[in-house]
Amino acid sequence: MPFVALHPEVGRLDATQPGLGAGLEWSRVYKVSPRVALTCPECAWGVHAKHSPSRVRFFCHDSGRPPECSLANESWEHHMLKLEMAGAIRAAGWFAELEVAAADGSWRADVMAVSPDGERRMAWEAQLSPITVEDIQARTDRYTAEGVTVCWVSPHRRPPVWLGSVPSVRVRVPEEDGEPWAVDDGLGGFDSGRWLFQEAELTQFVRWVLRGQLRPCRSLPHHRQVLRPVDGESRWFLRDLWWTSRQSAEAQSSHERERRQREEAARQREARRQELEDTSRARRKAWLASPAGQKAQRRRQEIRNQKEARKREQKADNRRAQAQAQRDEEVARHRAEVRERRAREFALAQEREAQRRAAMQDLELRAHAVAEAWWARLSRSEVEELFRAVFDTAWKRERLRARIPKAGGVTASFAYGIPVHAFNRLYGIVRPCPELLPLSPQLAYHQVFVRDAREAQALEEGGLRSTRITHFGLADRS
Ligand SMILES: [Zn+2]
Repeated sequence: MPFVALHPEVGRLDATQPGLGAGLEWSRVYKVSPRVALTCPECAWGVHAKHSPSRVRFFCHDSGRPPECSLANESWEHHMLKLEMAGAIRAAGWFAELEVAAADGSWRADVMAVSPDGERRMAWEAQLSPITVEDIQARTDRYTAEGVTVCWVSPHRRPPVWLGSVPSVRVRVPEEDGEPWAVDDGLGGFDSGRWLFQEAELTQFVRWVLRGQLRPCRSLPHHRQVLRPVDGESRWFLRDLWWTSRQSAEAQSSHERERRQREEAARQREARRQELEDTSRARRKAWLASPAGQKAQRRRQEIRNQKEARKREQKADNRRAQAQAQRDEEVARHRAEVRERRAREFALAQEREAQRRAAMQDLELRAHAVAEAWWARLSRSEVEELFRAVFDTAWKRERLRARIPKAGGVTASFAYGIPVHAFNRLYGIVRPCPELLPLSPQLAYHQVFVRDAREAQALEEGGLRSTRITHFGLADRS
């Protein structure tokens, strides 16, 4: 739905201008009979004048139009934005023309603003379809080549990718009647060392731009990221180019200058510090290489070595002391054990000795009765038989005449045996009592005579050596 049409006689008509920009009343083309042969300047198809429900005047293609006509394919929103821009340009005192094409056809401006003196031109482009940054830059360059400045305008809620890469703004489309169109992205101010998003009504913005109060300004590398609250949260935006005032552009430059000066000052401070450090290091190196420095190093090394040696000695001493303490402890423990063992053994021996003495006393008390019982086992004839055997053997073996001494008989000192003499010497003991051997240890040095193997056996068990015992195998007659 274009706002422009070609009249067969007066030429170009602009539905947004009074007198259609050609001194022609709207009524001369709207619903006239016979109808005027108006055509589309883009596709040359027939068009007719029409009203929107909100009384916006435009030209509508007749039916059967070529499908590729870009004017016919533009959305209502697109046309409304163009209308709004044209109005704003005219309100600022400039001329506004719609759908202005280059002589060579290399561009067609949606709205071309021309200064009152006709010297300056500025294209206002309503850009709704997606376009790459490269393409929009190329189109901007084509305008620039012909001395035409440009501002690209997007009405989309989401800022397009090219916003801020070329001179551009986003506008907020009014949602209610009477609400103004507003620029809410692409207009910025530099304050306190950073860029801030600013907003303005579209008419105001266009006026400022056309009067040169706003101009495109590139963000310097340190200021390209800008924080903006969106739907209650802060988000980062990348903006290379702003529409901004001379003051803001200068504020950015001076802020950048100061930043660089601070950086340079810091760099110089760092260089001085580095230089001082290098000097100090070189001086120290030189000193270390000098004889005095060498001597001092050797001295320090010696002191270090001495310290380490002392430390090692100290450690060795500690280890030795520890080992000694351990050995002492072991010795003490061993001695204590030995003392304990000896005490136990001594106590045990004392106990045994006491028991032995008690047994001996008991035996001494019972000795007489035991001996009597021992001898009572033999009859008189058996006793005589035994003594005969003793005497006969003494004679046969050694030619000795043995006899019982005059005061002889049983004696306690030979375990109640009967001593027999030969040549006034003790020849042997006859039949000591085995049970009483412990009371007469001296028996061990004498010959002993008993009747038979059984009595010999009893004496052996009582502690006498078998070589000292002689038995005669006399038959037991009892
Ligand atoms: Zn057309």
